[in-house]
Amino acid sequence: MVYTDLNTDVDVGASGHLIEMGPFKALVDCGLHPKRMGLDALPDISKITPETLDFIAVTHAHLDHCGALPVVARNQNHAHILAAEENSDLLARMLRNSRSVMVKQREEFDVKEYPLFDSQSIDALKSRTTPMPFHHEKQFEINGERIGVTFTPAGHIPGASSVMFEYKRRKILFSGDISFHSTGILRGATPPEGRVDTLVVETTRGSYSRPEGVSYDSEVARLVTSISLVLRGGGSVLIPAFALGRMQEILFILQRAKQQKAIPDVPVFAGGLGLDIAEHFIKGAKRSSTFFFGKQHMEGVKPLRGEIVPGKDFETRGIYVLGSGMMVEHTPSYLAAAAMMDNRANAIFFVGYADRDTPAARLQRTPYGGQFSFKDLFFVGNVNCRVDKFDLTSHADREEILEFIMRKDPRCVVLTHGSMAAREWFMDEIIDRSPKTSVIIPEPSVPVEL
Ligand SMILES: [Zn+2]
Ligand SMILES: [Zn+2]
Repeated sequence: MVYTDLNTDVDVGASGHLIEMGPFKALVDCGLHPKRMGLDALPDISKITPETLDFIAVTHAHLDHCGALPVVARNQNHAHILAAEENSDLLARMLRNSRSVMVKQREEFDVKEYPLFDSQSIDALKSRTTPMPFHHEKQFEINGERIGVTFTPAGHIPGASSVMFEYKRRKILFSGDISFHSTGILRGATPPEGRVDTLVVETTRGSYSRPEGVSYDSEVARLVTSISLVLRGGGSVLIPAFALGRMQEILFILQRAKQQKAIPDVPVFAGGLGLDIAEHFIKGAKRSSTFFFGKQHMEGVKPLRGEIVPGKDFETRGIYVLGSGMMVEHTPSYLAAAAMMDNRANAIFFVGYADRDTPAARLQRTPYGGQFSFKDLFFVGNVNCRVDKFDLTSHADREEILEFIMRKDPRCVVLTHGSMAAREWFMDEIIDRSPKTSVIIPEPSVPVEL
């Protein structure tokens, strides 16, 4: 087998794994780098010769895993596009949203190559995609040779999958983004049983050690108590949340807390794309055994309407669950922070990872009472509200991933989708525990024989 990591840096970046197994050639994921723009955001697709792929497998609908799919697929007309049954609608929805963001950015940042694809190519993908039911191997025969492909649930977000290829009794498993704990709306990962020959695994949380006694459930409980305190004190709560997965999970947590009378029954406002995805979840969950989301979880949730004015607090006391999770400039959560932070009674609660240079991380570093500048709005706010963060991660902790690797007992482990420090932590631990295992930190775009 020959493996090439097409992510152009050793970071989380844009996912893209090229794998050659005998006569078969497959691409697992083809994402866009979340911090780059234009052609720079693509994985190194120059390494994929046109019309040579047999498969393009997509693990999930986050754009760093699927955002470049239309770009790659248009030169790979014979490739089977494989995605979990739960995912097929979501992929198209996310790609459409990504395309409209690109159209705006073309104007704003003068990115001439944007948008990278047209709407028709998204529709074309939909009709080309083979929906993969979880845990059922699908056999493909090409030029008299057979290969098996199995998708299994990976937790993380609804529809997220691990993907396994089996060719001549050698199994290679791509973890995708994976998490093992269940949330209220999603079951934890159930990877394929038994050993694998090679495991290509994500390492997102490799540099992070979870403090003793802190778990997903304990963080949810702390979030609910904190929200309740703010509301009872007469304030409103802003929860910046990523539109796909995290926003619906928060809406579920709020709904359950209201039912249990753990928080007062105040209005909940949510943002546009997140509400749309919630509709997809409601439809998708009816056919799925891995995630649960129904109309009842959206009860009392209202779309946020009207202009948000910096320095002018919302008139209605409530909970505002708005995109984006990292409070990126121009998004509703960014504007809402500018409106709310001056009021001592309010709070801004972060529930996801924030990259160092994003406004979310900058706000978390600003001391209480300090000034926070919204440069593009020509506005400086005082951080008088409470700011806190809660670790509701949708990635497995490093110890869980390590245990997973040991359980799969692979001959070879390929460490991907994480910082160098994160990958090195895994490399040391694996060599320590299982010296016979070959551990690879792939160099971008350099093929390795596995
Ligand atoms: Zn993801
Ligand atoms: Zn990812």
